[in-house]
Amino acid sequence: MNIKKGDKVKVLSGKDKGKEGVVLRALPQKERVVVEKVNMIKKAMRPTQQNPQGGISTMEAPIHVSNVMVICPECKQPTRTGKKRDENGKKIRVCKKCGKDIDK
Ligand SMILES: [Zn+2]
Repeated sequence: MNIKKGDKVKVLSGKDKGKEGVVLRALPQKERVVVEKVNMIKKAMRPTQQNPQGGISTMEAPIHVSNVMVICPECKQPTRTGKKRDENGKKIRVCKKCGKDIDK
C-alpha cells in the first residue's frame, strides 16, 4: 500500500469525490484508509456516563485506497507514486509528476 498516515490525499470517486483531506489512519491489511472529513457516517452512540442521552455522532468510515490519490507536497498535484531507495538504502516514495521525494 502506497498511502500512509499523515498523507494528504484527493478522493477520486464516491460521494466525496474531489475532496481533499489528511489520512488519519491507514489499514494496510484491508487496503483502506480513513481520511479526515471524508466518507462521514452517522453512528448511534450508546448512553454513557459522559453522555447519558446517547445519540447520533458522525465519524469517518474507511475508504479503499484505489479511491484516493496522494497529493504531492512539492507540486501540489494528485499523483501516482514511484519507489526508489535513498542514499541509506531506505525505500522512499517519489512523485511521478515532478520526481521529488514524497517521504522526507
Ligand atoms: Zn510532485
